[in-house]
Amino acid sequence: MTRRPAGPSELAVSLADELSTLVVSENTSSFSEWTRRVPEPKAGPLDFRRFPFQRELYAKTSAMPEVVIKKAAQVGISAYLVRWVIYWADTHGFSALYVFPKKRQLADFSDMRVRALIHSSPYLRSRVPTGGVLNKMLKQVGRGQIYFRGSETLDDLDGIDADILAFDEYDTLTHAHIPDAERRLGSSLRRMIRRVGVPSVPGYGISQRYDESDQRVWHVRCSACGEQQPITWENVDESGLRRVCRRCKRQRLDLSSGEWVATYADRSVRGYHVSRLMVPDTDMALMVAESKKREPSAQRAFHNKDLGQEFLPEGSGLTLAAIRAAQRDYPMPDFYAGNNIVTMGVDPASERNIAVRISEHLSDGTKCALFIGEVSTFKALDELMERYRVDMAAIEDMPERRSARGFANRFPGRVYLAHYAITERADPIQVDDDRKVAAIPRTEALDAVIQELRTGQNLLPRNLPPGYEDQLQSPARLIEESSRGDPRARYVKRGPDDYAHAEVYDLVAFELYKRDHLIVDARSWEDDPVEVERSYLDWDGGYSPGPRGNLYDQYADQIRELWPDSPRSEWEV
Ligand SMILES: [Zn+2]
Repeated sequence: MTRRPAGPSELAVSLADELSTLVVSENTSSFSEWTRRVPEPKAGPLDFRRFPFQRELYAKTSAMPEVVIKKAAQVGISAYLVRWVIYWADTHGFSALYVFPKKRQLADFSDMRVRALIHSSPYLRSRVPTGGVLNKMLKQVGRGQIYFRGSETLDDLDGIDADILAFDEYDTLTHAHIPDAERRLGSSLRRMIRRVGVPSVPGYGISQRYDESDQRVWHVRCSACGEQQPITWENVDESGLRRVCRRCKRQRLDLSSGEWVATYADRSVRGYHVSRLMVPDTDMALMVAESKKREPSAQRAFHNKDLGQEFLPEGSGLTLAAIRAAQRDYPMPDFYAGNNIVTMGVDPASERNIAVRISEHLSDGTKCALFIGEVSTFKALDELMERYRVDMAAIEDMPERRSARGFANRFPGRVYLAHYAITERADPIQVDDDRKVAAIPRTEALDAVIQELRTGQNLLPRNLPPGYEDQLQSPARLIEESSRGDPRARYVKRGPDDYAHAEVYDLVAFELYKRDHLIVDARSWEDDPVEVERSYLDWDGGYSPGPRGNLYDQYADQIRELWPDSPRSEWEV
């Protein structure tokens, strides 16, 4: 550490700070003090002149129960997180769990960063016990140890009893396993959690955690007019490539000092938002250039990685406007007595909270909602099947597999169990005909639901049930890099989304109906089958609307050619 940050008075303050939350034995040093003995492998001591906003992290937060850091890329926060786990292992004999998205990245990280850190610090080297373990997955320092784990596999998290937990690259973690990692702290009274990451979309992951925190924002005071202000794009003088005061617009801001100001001081979880604008020596020419790019991927990178800000690119989910545009001026009927195909999609969040969507399929290829709502028992689904003359239903078989199976058994041939395929492949629905179970490609299915609503193929009634609009806006499409570096789309959930999945199952029910009835009929009619277009979920790479509505109308040309005498009525359903 260089002179600046750790004057004796500052150390006293930080020590007092820690004493207030934790009893520190006399011979242990504060995190700030300890950090001076742990330089950066190539750059030397931690330089708070480069990252002035980090002083508070080192001096005041080390013993806090929970800290969230929503950050830009390369602002020195990983260096903080690694030191934090090693500090507690070394000085207090704590057991730490450091969770990374994938095991593969972890191996590199553990070798490159952590091992290098230990090797370049004579102090830390002396703290590795004789015969102590220093492998990729476990490092022993002092009386404590740090487990490094990937989030993808639950087994990897098993059997670890940790005192403290650090989540890195929060938004790319396997989110379903975060609670399992947190349970690893179960028996420890010292439990502390750090969540760190570059944000992706609003309301998800690190962005959501920051929203729930005290939301600290870095403020700098203008030396000319005295205005105390957060550093945002408003401060950027794009032609002069300087950061200036937002009020007097002339004064260049001195970014070497500032202070964190909590937006919600009464909240218990601490949250920091770190952007590259706060780093004094940021290359402003580069950043201004990045800000001008218009390609969606570049815009996303600029917001997420430069500003440390969440960003929802256009078209990555449904908007309220799109939902409203799909509404028509009709009330949902209490029953259905027509002759069109009727499908039902069911998403049981629990035994008592079951989201349902029922659709009538019109001959013009659109469908309109007959019923959207929640029921509180599986038995109530039976009644809906009768009241709306449902031809085909698809029901998510988790978490209530037995009840879902019971429902399916009461309507043989009219109900499929369904779930999302474990591996995301651009495949059509996979069907197990004997068990009447369908596996659905999740991303493609949500794409199709959103596309249908946007293009007016899925019509909604005048009155929507409470929660429907929010839940349909919950899924947001993220583009991520696969392990091979190819871009891959994935939907993340931003709050409850049961109705969105009920829509998916309704769409799947129609696909299954066509598969079991229309297409099978066409094939059995003659040896030479009608060549059926690739359908909704049967896509490769791009969304393409599949056959809808009346089979004869859709395949009229082919049918006339193959079976010139076939009456149209044979093809009506
Ligand atoms: Zn000013």
